[in-house]
Amino acid sequence: MAAEKIPCPYCKGALFINTGYTEKIQNGRLTLYPFAQPCYCELNHSIGKKFGMLYALPDATPEDSEAVHKKYNEKGKNKGNFIFYGDEPSFRYTVKSYFLKGFTHSSYELLEGVNIVDKYNRPDSDTGARLSIGLLDQYDLVVILFTSRSEPPTLKACVADVVKNRLRIERPTWIYAPDKTLDTTKEYSKDLAPFLETFSYVEIGSTAYTGFSDGDSEKVKNQKARKLQDALGSLKR
Ligand SMILES: [Zn+2]
Repeated sequence: MAAEKIPCPYCKGALFINTGYTEKIQNGRLTLYPFAQPCYCELNHSIGKKFGMLYALPDATPEDSEAVHKKYNEKGKNKGNFIFYGDEPSFRYTVKSYFLKGFTHSSYELLEGVNIVDKYNRPDSDTGARLSIGLLDQYDLVVILFTSRSEPPTLKACVADVVKNRLRIERPTWIYAPDKTLDTTKEYSKDLAPFLETFSYVEIGSTAYTGFSDGDSEKVKNQKARKLQDALGSLKR
């Protein structure tokens, strides 16, 4: 028996899910129309397409998305600014889970420090106009991974400017570094230190969410369960 593709548990392959009803008055009568939105599988796909570094991860689940939003949307003294350190794949999954909610109506950017220089601090190849790191001000959330391997001369200054600008306009920034001590990264500069004082530190482990754990992902678990069922089925025959 050939292994069938397991349909998405949320939309069963339809790629859209109904999320309630909208009311419309038509010919003097109130009519309810189902309101559909892209399914989580479609959103995960779009997120992976837009952000290559999230592509290979398991799909973020709506439960994890809710949990991550609940955890990191409380804007206390830190104004939603966090420094994450620890397990990088888990951090990326956290980001994917966060992006899942609001991906269709919020603007998110995710990049390594060196991408800020590449993408936002050079002349645009089409128009010749100078792109500006000021463009990063507009995003609802900017996630910067302090994981660059190369260090262009403007790296530290660009990263520091982005963080300062966003603090000034009170828009949240997430920073990730492998270790709590940021000064081993190429992005970190002493100039940045006073601006990071209000950021909350979060150690990121690898077992926090349902969709991603030390063991198998949900997808792998489903596949294994399916294989087991197939094996048991063939025993009966
Ligand atoms: Zn789906």
